[in-house]
Amino acid sequence: MEETQPLKLYFIHFLAAGHMIPLCDIATLFASRRHHVTLITTPSNALTLRKSIPSHPFLRLHTVYFPSQEVGLPDGVENISFVTNTDNLAKVLDATAMLQSPIENFVEENPPDCIVADFLFPWVHDLANKLNIPRLGFNGFSLFAICAIHSSKSSDSLLIPTLPHPITLKATPPKELTEFLDKMMETMLKSYGLIVNNFAELDGEEYIRYYEKTTGRKAWHLGPASLISRTPQEKAERGMESVVSMQECVSWLDSKPEKSVVYICFGSLCHFPDKQLYEIACGMEASGHGFIWVVPEKKGKENESEEEKEKWLPKGFEERNVEKGMVIRGWAPQLLILNHRAVGAFVTHCGWNSTVEAVSAGVPMITWPVHGEQFYNEKLISDVRGIGVEVGAAEWTSIGFGERQTVVCRESIEKCVRRMIDGGDEAQEIRRRAQEFGEKAREAVGEGGSSHKNLTALIDDLIQVREAKLLH
Ligand code: UDP
Repeated sequence: MEETQPLKLYFIHFLAAGHMIPLCDIATLFASRRHHVTLITTPSNALTLRKSIPSHPFLRLHTVYFPSQEVGLPDGVENISFVTNTDNLAKVLDATAMLQSPIENFVEENPPDCIVADFLFPWVHDLANKLNIPRLGFNGFSLFAICAIHSSKSSDSLLIPTLPHPITLKATPPKELTEFLDKMMETMLKSYGLIVNNFAELDGEEYIRYYEKTTGRKAWHLGPASLISRTPQEKAERGMESVVSMQECVSWLDSKPEKSVVYICFGSLCHFPDKQLYEIACGMEASGHGFIWVVPEKKGKENESEEEKEKWLPKGFEERNVEKGMVIRGWAPQLLILNHRAVGAFVTHCGWNSTVEAVSAGVPMITWPVHGEQFYNEKLISDVRGIGVEVGAAEWTSIGFGERQTVVCRESIEKCVRRMIDGGDEAQEIRRRAQEFGEKAREAVGEGGSSHKNLTALIDDLIQVREAKLLH
């Protein structure tokens, strides 16, 4: 029998850690099935990717010039997750918009069999149509969130009654966000299908069917992407080089009892004001439990003294908690931390990657959504799947460095941490379910698991599309 020619696939990731990390991990899945994968990226993101995704003979990176000078950015700042002020955030977005034409030129000169692109590049729709190739959409959301966004259009209140599980959100999304998401999703839904960084069991058959029924489209669950195999060093450098060494982190955790440490991290785009950070510190100290707390690198104001810069921490906090806690200022090796036996709960902003990484590690969550689609994810975690508890955050903001109107108070933080770590029937039940989903996640990506099978089905489908085209 004639051997099938490998597929030629291009992946175009958006320039934010939460979008780039999972899509590039997913790209490696196709390469590991011996299909020819090209990741289209920019020079500084390519450096990160080379260190954090396993090298593979079928995976290559193609870099396009990133116009830093043209927009007035320092060299090497090519990702919105690595900026520390609003100005640079806008500049990275401006420069990103300028990538369209070099990417189009490259793709048109060397057309692939399929393009997988982030939904924040809606122009790929026309490009794929022009070349008559299938485009697969990706936005890094759970299918649950996509269904909820789709359904919330028909509801003016916090209640979304039409979903398989009616949910009541804790906050109203900003209007600009809803409008923006609707626009991006409209183009995404015109794609050949959707790639989802989740496993079917966590979104649930009911949501997969609901999605197919309400949109008429297909979605392929291929995740959790974080479970692709990689060395501990590649794990530690996933997304960005960590500011703490892997050894320091692991040996600190090794010294702690099982399931005793709370891991606190709000992803790569959330910048809380000092008063909120102060409440977190007080809440954690009052709980008496161990913690690893990740605080993004802060850019102090000019002429600010060291003391001024550190006023988000109560005086003497780190000295008092030297045994109990570790504050990581900057990028942390999240996958290593979540998978350590000492971690007993995760205070999370419910970014989808963080969520599915915690699920894969079997770690229950304390949910604290901030922006994007995180308030929907919170509902999946707490009400629908029962693998976490809500801290009570009710302010849905846009991504950026602006002030927030409300703070989650130290008492709520302390209460949730005690609820999860002190134990009791409720906590045990939540932990049991979290561990069960962790097992299902690992099964899904293994030989014969649901995500493994979906990948085979998607590849077969794309091969058929190519063959049908050849016959015409
Ligand atoms: N991440 C990390 N270390 C950090 C912060 C984030 O490794 O200090 C990773 C995390 O594991 C996840 C991604 O960055 O893969 C963040 O994606 P998510 O969807 O959770 O949140 P976002 O950053 O998009 O808000």
